[in-house]
Parts: sequence; C-alpha cells; structure tokens
Amino acid sequence: MPYDAVIVGAGPAGLAVGACLARAGVPATILEQTGQVGAAWHRHYTRLHLHTDKARSQLPFADFAAECPRYPSRQQVIDYLQAYARTFRLDIRLGQQVVAARPGDGSWEVRTRDQIYQARNLVLATGYNREPNLPTWPGQSAFRGTVLHSSDYRDGEPFRGRRVLVVGFGNSGGEIAIDLCQHGAEPSIVVRGPVNVVPRELFGIPIQAVSLLQSRLPPRVADLVSRPVLRLALGDLSRLGLERGAEGPMAQIRRLGRIPLIDVGTIELIRSGRIAVCPGVASFTADGVVFTDGTQRPFDAVILATGYRPRVDAFLHGASAALDRDGAPASSGSETAIPGLYFCGFRVSPAGMLREIGREARRISAAIARRTGAVGKGGNWGREGRTTGAG
Ligand SMILES: Cc1cc2nc3c(=O)[nH]c(=O)nc-3n(C[C@H](O)[C@H](O)[C@H](O)COP(=O)(O)OP(=O)(O)OC[C@H]3O[C@@H](n4cnc5c(N)ncnc54)[C@H](O)[C@@H]3O)c2cc1C
Repeated sequence: MPYDAVIVGAGPAGLAVGACLARAGVPATILEQTGQVGAAWHRHYTRLHLHTDKARSQLPFADFAAECPRYPSRQQVIDYLQAYARTFRLDIRLGQQVVAARPGDGSWEVRTRDQIYQARNLVLATGYNREPNLPTWPGQSAFRGTVLHSSDYRDGEPFRGRRVLVVGFGNSGGEIAIDLCQHGAEPSIVVRGPVNVVPRELFGIPIQAVSLLQSRLPPRVADLVSRPVLRLALGDLSRLGLERGAEGPMAQIRRLGRIPLIDVGTIELIRSGRIAVCPGVASFTADGVVFTDGTQRPFDAVILATGYRPRVDAFLHGASAALDRDGAPASSGSETAIPGLYFCGFRVSPAGMLREIGREARRISAAIARRTGAVGKGGNWGREGRTTGAG
C-alpha cells in the first residue's frame, strides 16, 4: 500500500508540512538524509541569529518560547525545530537520503540508499539552499591560502590576525565579515555591482513588518516611497563605495528572487574602515587576488559567500514539467503541473522565507487532504490550537 504522503527533508519546510498534515488527519512520513532535524541550522555559523523577527518566523501552530529574544539565535532555532517535531509526533526517518524519486503508476516511487517508498503524494522540502554555489576563477588552484564556502565557516577564530576576503555582499557575507572583525581578522568584502541594503529594523519596527505592508504596493512604488526613509536610516552609502541598485529592494526580490542585505552592523564597520570594500574578483595569484579594476592584494583566506542552488534535479526524475530551465522548482506552495507533486520552501519572499514556508505548508497540506479525502478529519487552519515551541 502506498503511503498517503512522503515528505523529503526535515528542515523547517518538511516539519511544517508534516505538522499541517498531522492536524488534517493525513499520516505522513518524513525522510531526512542526515541524523537530525533542522540539519542546516546545526551547520550554520555560530554567531547567526534570525534576520527576521520571531513573530514572523514561526511555523504553523507553534510559537517560539516567550523568553526567546525578538531575533532568536541559531541554537534557539534548533531547539524550536526539535520541539516542533516532538510536539506533532512527526514520523521522521533519519539517515534516509533520497537518491531517486520518479512518478509511477498512480503513485511516486521514492528510493533511498536502502529502501523504496511508494507515495500518493510527494512533497520535496529539500531546501532552497541544498548545494553551495562554488564559482571558480583563473589561477585559483595556485592560491596558497585557504578557500572555503560560507556553509563551511563556523566562526572567525581560525582567521585571527589574517587577511580575509569575503566574496559576496549577501546576508551571509555581510554577517561573516562582522564575525571576522570581532575575532581580530582583517576582512575585506567584494561588492561586484549595485546593491540594496535595508536595516533589520526601521525605527524599532522589524523590516519584515514594513515589507509586508509595502508588498501591497507595486514594487517600484514601494521602493520609491522607502528610498528617503532608507537613506535616513543608513546614511549615504555611495560614500562607502556602495552603489545603490537601479531597482530598489522590493523590485529586486520580485525580479531576481534575491533578498537585499539586511544590515546587522556591516555598514557601520565599513564606515569605520574595519571592513574594506573591493570590486569583483578577476583572478587569483599565489598569495592573493587580482580585482576587476586591475588592482591586486594579498590575502590569507577567501570565503565564498556566493549562495546556494536547490538542485532537486539531482534526484527528481521524470518531472521536468514541474521544473524551470535551470532544473529548479517552477512553483512552490501548491500542487505542481504533475499530480501529487509539491515543493515547499522554494519561494523567496520579502516577508521572510520561514513565514512563507508556513503559508506554503498550510496550502500544500490542504491540497493533499482534499486529494486523500481527509478534509474535515481534524483540520485546524486557524491560529487557535497554537502551542509554545522551545528556544
Ligand atoms: C545562513 C542562513 C540564514 C537564514 N536566515 C533566515 C532568517 O533569518 N529568516 C528566514 O525567514 N529565513 C532565513 N533563511 C532562509 C530559510 O528560512 C532557511 O534556509 C530554512 O532553513 C529553509 O528551510 P527548508 O526546510 O526549506 O530547508 P533546509 O533547512 O535546508 O532543510 C532541508 C532538509 O532537507 C534535507 N535533504 C536535502 N536533500 C535531501 C535528500 N535528497 N534526501 C533526504 N533529505 C534531504 C536536508 O538535510 C535538510 O535537513 C536563512 C538561510 C541561510 C542559509
């Protein structure tokens, strides 16, 4: 007998779908490749706190603990996710890496290294950040220093007193540069082109709350309205060598699916000269980097904060109708073009991915409940019945 629902991935998205299905009375099994829930959060760098406020980062039916700060730490997020899995008694099979999933006759065949599961509904919650994006440059193999991706960075201790180039002015790059400063390293950060920067809070209000309000407006209008406010909050960034994007933060998210830098202190450190801004990397030398403007500088280490790719096409077969040209999910949060297949957690939202994951999980489980005929068995789609998570 096929399972009603198999969910791949026990990160926030997989857990949220599992909890919503549990509430709807649909039994679901979660397959997780590692030995723990919230695996990505176990690996993230130590200093990480949510950039989004806890009220808008919690999953369906469970709040962060009241004693958690507004921006919970990495460990508090891990505690919350573990408590979430326990609270909803989710059936999670750890150490089950899905190596192939394909549509069969009326159900999905999901293969792990040692099991085959048949599922009427398959939810892929394997993460927008599944694989590090690792660009390479001419001369890189001759570089005598260390090169590592941000996903392998834990803290700045090994870099104390060293010259470190952070490639990428996203949220990981910006925060790792702060961490390096705080550990006595000499960080520089590559800013290849125009950027959008927003503070984590605007006059005490979380930027997510502001973005939510703004998302009712057309992106260009929202950006026009916020421009003078952002300038007031962050000062003139062009003096720091940071050129403002032709399109603002909301238009950037809509068009490119890329979150602007949510500033948690990087700008102040650039202003005070403790983080240097550099142009794009053209090539490596044995002891440093040549930049696109022809200048050359020595570095002991280079950290690639160059993002990730979802790479579901690495194990999902016979489902190209549900993928875009790059092999990434073409949609997220609803049934795809292929019956019984759903993606959760692949939409970048101005209001934060965790919030969006919760919304997608509710929609997906409602669709699965309809498909399995479980509607009305125990569904509770409102805020009532919330519990308090850990943290
Ligand atoms: C550094 C960083 C900070 C972030 N901060 C925030 C923030 O402050 N606020 C916010 O809203 N969002 C934030 N995000 C974005 C997003 O909310 C998180 O990445 C979140 O963990 C996404 O949840 P997920 O379940 O979709 O993916 P993940 O947490 O990546 O979970 C996916 C799970 O699937 C498993 N898996 C993958 N492939 C397979 C397979 N083939 N078989 C079995 N299991 C598999 C993985 O092991 C993992 O456990 C941040 C992201 C990063 C990288």
